[in-house]
Amino acid sequence: MLFFKRALLLIANLFSLVSVAQIQPCIDVTSASRREAGAGQGVYDFNNKWTPGSVITVGFIDGTKWQWDKVKLYAPIWSKYANVTFKFIGKSQGNEDVRIRFNSQKGSYSYIGLDAKNRLPSQETMNLGWIDNKGTEQQLKGVILHEFGHALGLLHEHMNPMSNIKWNKPRVYAVYMQYEGWDRDMVDKQVFDRYSVSMTNKAYDPKSIMHYPIPKDFTLDGYSVSENDDLSPGDIKLIEELYPFNKTLPVTNTTIVWSKLQNLHIDYNVTENGKLGMKVKQNFLIYNAQGKQCIMAVYFYNAENGQPLLDKDGQYSSSDNHVAGYNYFTPNFQNTQFNDLSVFMPYDQLELGAGNFRLKCYVAIFDPDLKQIVTGGYQYFTFSQGINIKEIRLLTSFDDAGQQLKITPAFTISNAKGLRCLAAIYFYHDNGQPLRDHNSLYYSVDGNVSSTAYFTPGYDVTLYDNTQTGFIITMPYKELELQNGAYKLKYKVILFDDKLNRLVTSEYYYFNYTQR
Ligand SMILES: [Zn+2]
Repeated sequence: MLFFKRALLLIANLFSLVSVAQIQPCIDVTSASRREAGAGQGVYDFNNKWTPGSVITVGFIDGTKWQWDKVKLYAPIWSKYANVTFKFIGKSQGNEDVRIRFNSQKGSYSYIGLDAKNRLPSQETMNLGWIDNKGTEQQLKGVILHEFGHALGLLHEHMNPMSNIKWNKPRVYAVYMQYEGWDRDMVDKQVFDRYSVSMTNKAYDPKSIMHYPIPKDFTLDGYSVSENDDLSPGDIKLIEELYPFNKTLPVTNTTIVWSKLQNLHIDYNVTENGKLGMKVKQNFLIYNAQGKQCIMAVYFYNAENGQPLLDKDGQYSSSDNHVAGYNYFTPNFQNTQFNDLSVFMPYDQLELGAGNFRLKCYVAIFDPDLKQIVTGGYQYFTFSQGINIKEIRLLTSFDDAGQQLKITPAFTISNAKGLRCLAAIYFYHDNGQPLRDHNSLYYSVDGNVSSTAYFTPGYDVTLYDNTQTGFIITMPYKELELQNGAYKLKYKVILFDDKLNRLVTSEYYYFNYTQR
């Protein structure tokens, strides 16, 4: 997390020109392949969460009792809302789930959720570089909550693809270079890059504990985010959904049917019976249901509005016409362990059509009386079919010095990463008649006045506008090829994919033009 030293912040207040003195950003250790995951179409995800109900062991590789006590005090705040418990072992033996170092030279970072399992026993999974007596209590709490948010699987909120922060890039590069020694590439990776939608899958939340603070002068429009030291309502809602609390019964109970969910694994883009889909595989224990038929079901929701997906064709449907898949099973024993019991959901049965959808699903187990006895918490994923563009707007400037129009299309495009796409502008008289080309400069195949620009999206979901990854279509005034006089004109932009299929058409934009 970005972290301002108190004293230096004070100096910054005294000298208002210097708004950032020293910054200590949390380093994102999600691997590049994770960030780039899911190129192309289909489903991709980033599910790194622990099984709800997990006891996550925490060991300290080094540090003082005072530092250990701060961690023990603040990390468990997450457990008020998430069904996980942190068990503090003390000095690390190398086999704890989370292993903490307090190396003050290495800043702060944490491996994301289950990624911690890929670290060697001798290696830390979290570094807390700033737990010292220079911080206010509130700031210590903020750092610890932020890093344990990562440990539970949460990612940086400022890299949420929905954030659309208008960075003042030269300023941000300069500050990080000066105070962190980061090169441009590092700043790009840690600050400007955005995750695939699939990796956050929730509305942008500037109050999130997972958001870097942003000083005003880091943005072009004065947007800022203050230092967040507490869980936001959005953080709480998300973590509650990821780690729900289920009723547990003592193992001595031998009558009531109940179940304890363990590892969940989802295979995306698998084919079964000739259909492409996703396979949800669940491990669990079920008690006291020997010889009786039970059900494992998976329910699917739109993650943006929380509404269930609606079934239209009566297949893969719950009794209330929501999209759901299920599988019957009959335990053989009083207490039965199931491994990888699966439910397959063909993509066409999500019944969504073309587009880019942020979805979530959860597993539920039902007892022989069809009573739901346990749920696994939401798994978020993104489902995409076809290149998809959300609302295109045109930002136009009249460059009279350069005697040209400059048009910047603003839009979000999905599933076109690496494809060389085309934007074309067309001009018309107010009455709809196209402006005709005569000199074969700035013209379309049908002989009308037109100008084009190519663009190649860099992400699964790429935002184009006039500040970030934008491009400009230029149109020299003289290439409108008009006789002297005053005109009422209009134009529109059409975007094409790499095979020149039409993707989206803007509205008409109007302007008055005088040719002298
Ligand atoms: Zn972080």
